[in-house]
Amino acid sequence: MRNIPFSPPDITELEIQEVCEALRSGWITTGPRTKQLEKELAEYCHAAKLVCLNSATAAEEMNLRVLGIGEGDEVLVPAYTYTATAAAAIHVGATVKFIDSQKDSLEMDYDQMERAITERTKAVIPVDLGGIPCDYDRIYQAVEGKKALFCPKGDVQEALGRVAVVADCAHGLGASRHGVPTGALADFTSFSFHAVKNFTTAEGGASAWRTLPGLDDEELYHRYQLLSLHGQSKDALAKTKLGAWEYDIVGPWYKCNMTDLMAAIGLKQLERYPGLLERRHQLIQRYDEALHPLGIRTLPHFTPDYTSSGHLYLTWTPGIGEKERNEIILRMAERGVACNVHYKPLPMMTAYKAMGFDIADYPNAYHHYENLITLPLHTRLSDEDAAYVTEQFTDIVKEYLR
Ligand SMILES: *Cc1c(COP(=O)(O)O)cnc(C)c1O
Repeated sequence: MRNIPFSPPDITELEIQEVCEALRSGWITTGPRTKQLEKELAEYCHAAKLVCLNSATAAEEMNLRVLGIGEGDEVLVPAYTYTATAAAAIHVGATVKFIDSQKDSLEMDYDQMERAITERTKAVIPVDLGGIPCDYDRIYQAVEGKKALFCPKGDVQEALGRVAVVADCAHGLGASRHGVPTGALADFTSFSFHAVKNFTTAEGGASAWRTLPGLDDEELYHRYQLLSLHGQSKDALAKTKLGAWEYDIVGPWYKCNMTDLMAAIGLKQLERYPGLLERRHQLIQRYDEALHPLGIRTLPHFTPDYTSSGHLYLTWTPGIGEKERNEIILRMAERGVACNVHYKPLPMMTAYKAMGFDIADYPNAYHHYENLITLPLHTRLSDEDAAYVTEQFTDIVKEYLR
């Protein structure tokens, strides 16, 4: 029997060496390595600019704060996502409205999203689930169509002149749609570098934005610096200049900066990342070839419209419900294969039920969830491991197929 974990980090001697060098350098918090990673990542994903932070949750929160979104504002979030997508909006004081999925896709029902836009709506938060970029053409069409309703507050909202598109791209670094990489698709984007994600800095994340007419990228970057570092007018590195001790505090703000130890991991991950994506794509092809003949539906990671980052391998077994799904996951675990479910929709979670949400209002989200199993997909899998996963899965699932 093999033992196949769900999503272990892919760390080599390269990352380990670079972290050691950072430790020896005498500069371990935000400094030259963080700045270098920001520059390289912005180039990689064609963003106007990018700021490294300590998580994607913080990145989404900073995106919303830069947009001036808060109390009294509404934000549209898919019911089908991880809690961080909605929680960041709640942290800034906004009201979350959940949008159901499409019948045949995990993306939001964009007609429903468009209808949900009111004078109070300030942002929509599409989630590039599994690493598949959402249909941004349709999303921009919806927010442009509702332009007349928009009541801007502050200079960033004024410059946009419509509801902002703020992507939760926790899964999608390296994905693209019609040749445009995530980072340049949404107005603002948050990436996650958490340990289970495609690209890791242990914990970590980044905010990126595309070029937005009427906004100065350097000035926006400075706002992120202030928001993420106590509202302090000089960071630790700037204060090391001879005699430059004095700083001001311009707002009682937040603390969510990336450290140079994290950035050291990221710099080496980025060198390896094209190879890591390629390996994910190979594994997905192997899984698809083994499972599609059985009638098991999986996420389409490659179409003429987009190339996914191949973050998650979602499967839907026809004819089963929650009970059978949970049995299959347990039986896979008994054979050494860790599976998961991405996601149990947020209206089914205690915190969101307490806020009055009811899964009965999100039938498509529930339908996607009830027979879903996520198989392990990561770059520590050998070809033999991948074959073992599909053999065991096929063997178990056959008993449930009618
Ligand atoms: C992991 C994840 C996040 C949060 O990322 P952190 O870096 O842990 O804050 C947000 N959204 C989705 C969809 C995720 O999977």
